[in-house]
Amino acid sequence: MTNSVRVIPIECKFGRTTAYAYYIDAPEPALIDTGIASSASQEIETVLVEHGLRIEDIRWILLTHGHVDHLGGARAIWEITKGCAEVVIPQKEAYLLRNRSAHITDYKQLQGQYLDVETQEKHTAILLNDIGEGLKPTVEVVGGDRLLLGGDVSITVVETPGHSIGSVTFVLDGVNWAFAADAVQMYGGAQSRIPTIEHPGYYRQSLQRLLEEVRPRRQETVERLFDRYFRGISTSSNISGTGLGMAIARQIVIAHDGYIEIDSKPQHGTKCNIIFPLKRVG
Ligand SMILES: [Zn+2]
Repeated sequence: MTNSVRVIPIECKFGRTTAYAYYIDAPEPALIDTGIASSASQEIETVLVEHGLRIEDIRWILLTHGHVDHLGGARAIWEITKGCAEVVIPQKEAYLLRNRSAHITDYKQLQGQYLDVETQEKHTAILLNDIGEGLKPTVEVVGGDRLLLGGDVSITVVETPGHSIGSVTFVLDGVNWAFAADAVQMYGGAQSRIPTIEHPGYYRQSLQRLLEEVRPRRQETVERLFDRYFRGISTSSNISGTGLGMAIARQIVIAHDGYIEIDSKPQHGTKCNIIFPLKRVG
């Protein structure tokens, strides 16, 4: 479980809207979502170069769900990595990555039903242009799966269906990052004027899961820091130590009438202030 890893958000344009891709600067670099086919060269590579990074070094392509603006660029990026990157997608939507025409069928059944034939045809042409040719996923994930990105960086998969039936959230363990993509929406269909939540009941449940299960996990780590034998809430098997150090440190500070303040922020690390009272000697 890491407590610090660089995350670079990358804005990928899609028509009048944008979808975000996120670069995780792990020992095995990962990219969460890939924009559309043209995003690889137009936006993702450009931003990475600005940060002194190389798109060909990406070793994990992690797709939150099967929609065009999230997986469309996967093929292009995978090719730039010369096929070295693992391609990860929720099991339930893997067929949308393998088969571009499945994506069209999916679109017509869902959003297409709200549009006239002419608009549907226009959208279909856009979809075919924006999704790279069929790509075989190498890892199909379900809730609870953990992906190890080298060093102590890992990602846990949380199922958050609703926007689409297979949508997942990738949680970067140990820091306060949960990559939910469209599982959490600010505007819904306000811009497109067509529904963007396929299963409203599941959507609500997923929001609840994120708020009640995922979000408090980091806070729990801070609160339990001084518990004996507590070694973090990550399920990593590589955590060394007995979990006694912080508890002993606390006892020593208390014995000297002091107290400890913990200030922990994602991406900034954890600061411990140990405060002792000034006592007059003699
Ligand atoms: Zn989507």
